Amino acid sequence: MYKKTNIKHSSAVSHFVLRPALWPFALLLFSNNLFAQNPSPLEISQLINDYRASMETVIINDFVDLLALPNVAQNQADMDVNADHITSLLEQRGFTTQRLQSGGSPYVYAEMMQPGATETLLLYAHYDGQPVQVENWAYPPFTPTLLDAPLQAGGQPVDIAEVSGSFDPEWRLYARSAGDDKMPIIALMHTLDAMQANDIDLSVNLKLLLDGEEERGSPSVGNIIDENPGLLDADLLLFCDGPMHQSRNAQLVFGVRGSKTLDMTTYGANRPLHSGHYGNWAPNPIMQMTYLLTSMRDETGRILIDNYYDDVAPVNDMERSAIAAMPDITEALKNELAINTPEGDGVRLEELVTLPAINVRGISAGGVGPLGRNIILSNATASLNIRLVANQRPEGVEELIEAHIVNQGFHIVYEDPTNEILSANEKVIKLDWRGRGSPGLRTPMDDAMSQRLVNLMQSVTTDLILTPSMGGSLPLDDFATRMDTPIIVLPLANHDNNQHAENENIRLQNMWDAMSIYGVILANFGLE
Ligand SMILES: [Zn+2]
Repeated sequence: MYKKTNIKHSSAVSHFVLRPALWPFALLLFSNNLFAQNPSPLEISQLINDYRASMETVIINDFVDLLALPNVAQNQADMDVNADHITSLLEQRGFTTQRLQSGGSPYVYAEMMQPGATETLLLYAHYDGQPVQVENWAYPPFTPTLLDAPLQAGGQPVDIAEVSGSFDPEWRLYARSAGDDKMPIIALMHTLDAMQANDIDLSVNLKLLLDGEEERGSPSVGNIIDENPGLLDADLLLFCDGPMHQSRNAQLVFGVRGSKTLDMTTYGANRPLHSGHYGNWAPNPIMQMTYLLTSMRDETGRILIDNYYDDVAPVNDMERSAIAAMPDITEALKNELAINTPEGDGVRLEELVTLPAINVRGISAGGVGPLGRNIILSNATASLNIRLVANQRPEGVEELIEAHIVNQGFHIVYEDPTNEILSANEKVIKLDWRGRGSPGLRTPMDDAMSQRLVNLMQSVTTDLILTPSMGGSLPLDDFATRMDTPIIVLPLANHDNNQHAENENIRLQNMWDAMSIYGVILANFGLE
């Protein structure tokens, strides 16, 4: 239990435990769920909102203090400063904290155990950020600046100290990591304050894992889980990262796509040849690459590689109806992006991202315009980003793609081929699998924890958006392969928060909504 009064209470109880005569009293105290008297979800939401409305200046100033700490993931010293700051926010609220480190940046672990609670929630967020190119920012990335409208709508700076009463919820705070991903940390701290002020108990044991190296791919999170057996055990992992749906409705996301990268190089003659003298005779590596790419996927994006869909988890009825219930943004997106005909043969974007994709992210060969020369090149390289979905493993995908390339008549090498290799084989291709990649992942929507969370959130919000899978990737695999815990993504930042780019921002209403969602979950999740 986190409340300062209750912490005193529980230390008093442990005192009693030393005196056997008082055991029955202590047991009574523990066996009674103190949090069973918590108000209903709707009341909780209202209480948190009321508290927040009276504390907006304090909350925003707290957020400004955290955002003012530079947090580019590569700068270890900066990450230590951030971790210290966050640790002190946590300890002020009664969390027990630990710094976890395994060769990378620090992770801050914190827990608050609630006597009588039978479920444990593990909340993940990250406090590191992407690098910044200061010259591209309208306001310096580590000088948090509140604007009275989005920047592109002509927003002007507001002096926080000058605001009396409440802030316009459409105002936005600009700084690196405002949206990705420091907001959940500050929102959670003030949710706990709001609960304390209103005598609302946690209904769950609460564990936090705050990552200091997410933007570098969380390279040591696997080791950290391995080196601390049991520490992160929980009944549900809530992954608080990523942008919300464009409609701004509350959202739960049950899966992510995995990702894998492949560079492929095809070869012609061992030196460039005159295209007049040798055209039609010398093998053209650009054409070889083109035929190979078109053999891998068709114009709708359907992958043509044998057995590629064998492992793909099918979309079930519950997932399909969740997609059907989502606001259809197809036409708006087509307009915004000037796309006449999307790929996918008419299937909605939200369903297409439950399917694997092969994206050609670049081709490098020869030159065009003034750099064009009348030659047949020696080689051509294409770079692929391969998106995996639930049940697909990177190793399996690698095997299928290599088998397909061999079927297309290529001899595969992993280093630059020698003249001997080029002479001995009709077609040669060099493959460079870049990194091990990550698998796709999808938590079943009918899992007991999923259902409980959905029901709880639907009790306070109409139009809750349930997304079977996001299109992008999050570092969930290290958790999924090591822990038997359902993972649900709870995105909280506005979709237009410019994450990773310049002028990153958070819309204040998103922070206020995050507090009320946290309050409802913390106060009521364990009551079911
Ligand atoms: Zn993030």
